[in-house]
Amino acid sequence: MPELPEVETVRRGLQPLMEGARFERVEARRGDLRWPLPKDFVKRLEGQTVTGLGRRAKYILADLSSGEVLLMHLGMSGSFRVAQAGHEETPGDFLHERSKSAAHDHVVFHMSSGGVATFNDPRRFGCMKLIARGSLEQEPLLRALGPEPLGNAFDAAMLAAACTGKQTSLKAALLDQRVVAGLGNIYVCEALHRAHLSPKRKASTLAGRKGAPNDRAAALVEAIRAVLNDAIEAGGSSLRDHRRTDGELGYFQHAFRAYDRENAPCPTRRCPGIIRRIVQNGRSTFYCPVCQK
Ligand code: ZN
Repeated sequence: MPELPEVETVRRGLQPLMEGARFERVEARRGDLRWPLPKDFVKRLEGQTVTGLGRRAKYILADLSSGEVLLMHLGMSGSFRVAQAGHEETPGDFLHERSKSAAHDHVVFHMSSGGVATFNDPRRFGCMKLIARGSLEQEPLLRALGPEPLGNAFDAAMLAAACTGKQTSLKAALLDQRVVAGLGNIYVCEALHRAHLSPKRKASTLAGRKGAPNDRAAALVEAIRAVLNDAIEAGGSSLRDHRRTDGELGYFQHAFRAYDRENAPCPTRRCPGIIRRIVQNGRSTFYCPVCQK
């Protein structure tokens, strides 16, 4: 499943052809993705200009001149293929497996910029919705989301407040989208390793008395931002892709410090530890028992 850095990579790939451009023609080749496409989907898009292309957690949000917002989610296997001026690419392609089959090209945007964006999704867990700009706050998919990890509102005080009194593990707390939005298994493991915090530690230990943030909360916020920014800079990454292009993408393999590195030496300087894999809430956690406390 694409994680936040990949979605951001996709957004940046779509931006040059979509932002400021008009939907000249829209093809909806089937009536549903995860859910049915909105009523009059094509009619409500054609002729509208994209005034801005943003992102909230793992949702890409296109602001339309009609006052509606086109919300797009890649689901498990969705991707966009972008063609402009005779050049075609798939932003974020190396982050998750992507089908090349045209049978899975479900929605095609022909933009006035001359660019074409094709949404391909073999498993069809992706979605597209049209929401009135003024109702975005009430949108069920977005309503319960916590702060953006790369936004200004997300800081040690906010994270500590969200974790105060929480008896769950730090790992579980960070995967909780109400605590912080858009983090998945890979980057939670990476951030905890970088912050030298054990994934098994109780979430409540990020806050002192009265919920004030301690050094651990500050270190964790910094680590979360750093791993996400590094991954966005690298264009994203995913386990599946490493396997597929074994040997070719050594650079990305080295980019993970803990994730999927069971039995490998811990990369922390002077740490003699070995990365271990445990299962928490049904998902693999990779961590170093020596330097993550
Ligand atoms: Zn270590």
